[in-house]
Amino acid sequence: MSQTERVEVLVLGSGTGGKLLAWEMAAAGHRTAVVERRWIGGSCPNINCLPSKNEVKSAEVADVVKRAGAFGTAATGVRTDMVKVLARKRKMVDELVAAHLERYRASGAELILGEARFVGAKTVEVTLKDGGTRQLSGDRVFLNLGTRPFLPPIPGLAEAALTNIELLELDRVPERLVVIGGGYAGLELAQAYRRFGSRVTVVERGPHVLAGEDPDVADALERLFADEEIEVLSSTQPLRVDGRRGALSVVVRTGRGDERALAASDVLAATGRAPNTTGIGLDVAGVELDARGYIAVNERLETSAPNVWAIGECAGSPQFTHVSADDFRVIRDNLDGGDRNTRKRLVPFCVFTDPPLARVGLNEVEARRHGVSVRVATLPVEEVLRTRTTGQTRGFMKALVDARRDDILGFTMFGADAGEVMAVVQTAMIGGLPFTSLREAILTHPTMAEGLGELFGRVGQRGHEAKAGP
Ligand SMILES: Cc1cc2nc3c(=O)[nH]c(=O)nc-3n(C[C@H](O)[C@H](O)[C@H](O)COP(=O)(O)OP(=O)(O)OC[C@H]3O[C@@H](n4cnc5c(N)ncnc54)[C@H](O)[C@@H]3O)c2cc1C
Repeated sequence: MSQTERVEVLVLGSGTGGKLLAWEMAAAGHRTAVVERRWIGGSCPNINCLPSKNEVKSAEVADVVKRAGAFGTAATGVRTDMVKVLARKRKMVDELVAAHLERYRASGAELILGEARFVGAKTVEVTLKDGGTRQLSGDRVFLNLGTRPFLPPIPGLAEAALTNIELLELDRVPERLVVIGGGYAGLELAQAYRRFGSRVTVVERGPHVLAGEDPDVADALERLFADEEIEVLSSTQPLRVDGRRGALSVVVRTGRGDERALAASDVLAATGRAPNTTGIGLDVAGVELDARGYIAVNERLETSAPNVWAIGECAGSPQFTHVSADDFRVIRDNLDGGDRNTRKRLVPFCVFTDPPLARVGLNEVEARRHGVSVRVATLPVEEVLRTRTTGQTRGFMKALVDARRDDILGFTMFGADAGEVMAVVQTAMIGGLPFTSLREAILTHPTMAEGLGELFGRVGQRGHEAKAGP
């Protein structure tokens, strides 16, 4: 048995919040170690956000080139070389990993490559990647263990399916891709692979894709997919997957109750996430889980074990990199004597389809569920003059304003530059500005953000709940 090494700060998992915490603590002079079993820097730079957006960009370029004639530039014989798409993505990941290693070096935090398992309170045994074990104990322990793809118990699925990790490592264009799951990760990849040349079907068990979004938003996305010849089967249950990779059949029950077999060369399971909290002795460490298997935390991200915190997805936080980063800030500020919590955080998100979808604050479905009275204004983006120059006329903006006060309660945009325009509204919300500030602001012409003036100009009088379709 190896001797137990003591560190002041022990971080398990090198995801976004964990690595930020480690670098800051180490730079402040605390003896810090991070244990990471596979992905230096966590999921975002290696397998999730950035690799997927990298390939989404390649797909967007493929699409623009195919449509180049409409802009006056002739392009013939356009085809995608997936070997080169993959090489571009891998180069980015390699560069990001190198940048992470440099941050570890500069901060003084030790990165230990291996799998951690608790053997006592605040004490882990690490099975090192290069062989052997080390035992470490931390005065303070931070769990940033993340999640992994969850595959529902559909016969044949586990044997046949690719997850986003394997799909993003393909050096070929799948001939027929069936995407199971109409959440944001599935939709981004469905559109990208369609644009690379795959025939794509999305199977969604709910009544529409993007569960939780307003029906007009989901409709707009489904219309985009129809125009790009991506089949979307909603209210459809996958029953089983037959055959072998390359020649598969996904048997589904459609909303009408019929059984249908979808031929597929490849199947992507985009069916949710499961926390990496099992089999690593969290019980030995006194760390309790909630009913869904995520680490139970309070609003300061403290676990049931003293001096043990959880960060990011494993703590049940909203599943975004920017939230993992904010979890770090909550913990850091509290350790510095502050009083910060995870309540009432304004969490924006963006779905990187083309055009993208972005939202901050409430949508109509949520406002109704919470009994909040709102004034709703919408603006088709074709009315924003910028889109007449770019040709990106698809989509709309939607704002929710309190019915009785002038507070902005939510903003959704499906359209070009949605994520960037949303950030403008988010900033106004953070600053507590009334919607009239954006209505009256001088915004640059011709930009997409300029549309905010017209959008907020459409908000009705106080006391009048107004609703307009896009
Ligand atoms: C396809 C896809 C696309 C996405 N795109 C976006 C996006 O565009 N924007 C966005 O904000 N979010 C996106 N996400 C979500 C985002 O990737 C995560 O929310 C984000 O990476 C934060 O993760 P985290 O910090 O909780 O943990 P992670 O980054 O997952 O880190 C956890 C780390 O812990 C390690 N680990 C686990 N168990 C052990 C152990 N026992 N010992 C040692 N190490 C261990 C893991 O190897 C991993 O590196 C996407 C997700 C997917 C699936």
